[in-house]
Amino acid sequence: MPSKPTLALIAHDAKKDAMVEFARRHLDKLEDFNLVGTGTTGGRIQEAFPGLEITRLKSGPLGGDQQIGAMIADGKLQGLLFFVDPLSPMPHDVDVKALMRLALVYDLPMALNPSTADILLRSARLTGLKTSSQTPEVGTFAS
Ligand code: PGA
Repeated sequence: MPSKPTLALIAHDAKKDAMVEFARRHLDKLEDFNLVGTGTTGGRIQEAFPGLEITRLKSGPLGGDQQIGAMIADGKLQGLLFFVDPLSPMPHDVDVKALMRLALVYDLPMALNPSTADILLRSARLTGLKTSSQTPEVGTFAS
């Protein structure tokens, strides 16, 4: 189990520049996290900041979003930044809904745009989360 809290980064294509810019603004802070990202988003961040470690999963439309969903269900994620493009129809639109749903079920901090992500990253709650005590109240959905 990583000692740092784990933060997942996803950005739709039209929002990838905004994600890179966000990472630039918060480079110091991001080093306090174990970072994971969907394939292309992770690649863009790695390219822009070669010193920043980020684990790249599959590309979002090819299952990367669902890999992140599995991490939420397994209690392996402490925060999710998903910069969503609201203006383009996308075939994998359902992945956004699925991730939002899991974030609600597990009460996971989730930001959908840069201004909320700024606030979330400054939050003591997120950085103070203990990675070993992620046992959310999931009511009747708990197994
Ligand atoms: P990508 O996936 O980072 O591989 O482009 C993001 C997405 O879910 O669209």
